[in-house]
Amino acid sequence: MKAICKTHPQAGLSLENINQPEPSTNEVLIKILKTAICGTDLHIYKWDEWAQNNIKLPITIGHEFVGEVAGVGNGVTHYQIGDIVSGEGHITCGYCRNCRAGQKHLCHKTVGIGIHRDGAFAEYMTIPEGNVWPVHKDIETDIASFFDPLGNAVHCALSFEMVAEDVLITGAGPIGCIAAAVCKKIGARNVVVTDINDFRLKLAKTMGADAAINIQTEKIIDYYQDLRIDSGFDIGLEMSGNPEALNEMVHHLYHGGKIALLGILPNDTTIAWDKIIFKGLHLKGIYGREMYETWYKMTQLIRGGLNVSPIITHRFSADKFENAFEAIESGNCGKVIMEW
Ligand code: NAD
Ligand code: ZN
Repeated sequence: MKAICKTHPQAGLSLENINQPEPSTNEVLIKILKTAICGTDLHIYKWDEWAQNNIKLPITIGHEFVGEVAGVGNGVTHYQIGDIVSGEGHITCGYCRNCRAGQKHLCHKTVGIGIHRDGAFAEYMTIPEGNVWPVHKDIETDIASFFDPLGNAVHCALSFEMVAEDVLITGAGPIGCIAAAVCKKIGARNVVVTDINDFRLKLAKTMGADAAINIQTEKIIDYYQDLRIDSGFDIGLEMSGNPEALNEMVHHLYHGGKIALLGILPNDTTIAWDKIIFKGLHLKGIYGREMYETWYKMTQLIRGGLNVSPIITHRFSADKFENAFEAIESGNCGKVIMEW
């Protein structure tokens, strides 16, 4: 079968012809229909320091997908050939304290598909039955192909009570833009998104943001009057991974405010700790999606009218993966989909 692989410790990826996997006990074989590209895939493509430290070669990459069940291993009870499915890319141990407490997103032995084991950028992939998520017939496969980052956005947005609250999102990448749509849907009053990329800021507006601010040329404070914000934002979703963005957010949060940290900040990020302390801010690290409450909520949000389709800006056949990665690298994109 065809698969997009990292075979050598250097920049780039290659389309390889490899053996089709067989589903083991309790595994489901999925024929991949569509995949979406994540920033993580770009890190692996570029073979940066993070990739060098985390990826064992050779590997088939990718973890955002939708497909059709093509086979089941022994013991699989919930899926049949032909079912349209997506799936959770974090495979958890099932036996640690958190797994047993129903908090699989906090498992300390998590294995990632397309990172620690073969992933979804292939004609076929196997994953444990428990990780498979059935795609409701009301939901288009285009949307299901990026349930993974949609889930990141939903996990962040549902972390705090948001009705009538003013929300600041730093970073108008695909996840920040999707989060803007989610926050509006669940009742936020103002949703303000910042970035340094005008293409993406325009996308954030299309997705429903009340204001989209280029922080290189504009100031957030200048928007307070128009948006009738009195003393700052109630909730912050950090989705840029940029230290300056985090500090700007801390500065603009009202006392008692809450921040979800999704963007992966450098370890040497400095932060105005006095503001965290004296404003009594709450910080929450977010990793992945809650298993599987986030999956349920995103399914129902989409079925209930949440429209995230404008985030899809590019579409390529998997054979043209080089062009797809160029689109991601340019930054002038939302979600980039590859068809298999
Ligand atoms: P992305 O890299 O496509 O988007 C980040 C955006 O932040 C870019 O548009 C960039 O221009 C913008 N940005 C840069 N500097 C900024 C600044 N000073 N102020 C405001 N915006 C700024 O990323 P994405 O795919 O949308 O993901 C968002 C973040 O979440 C990334 O850091 C990603 O690595 C991280 N992530 C975390 C998890 C998790 O489980 N914690 C999962 C997926 C992604
Ligand atoms: Zn565990």
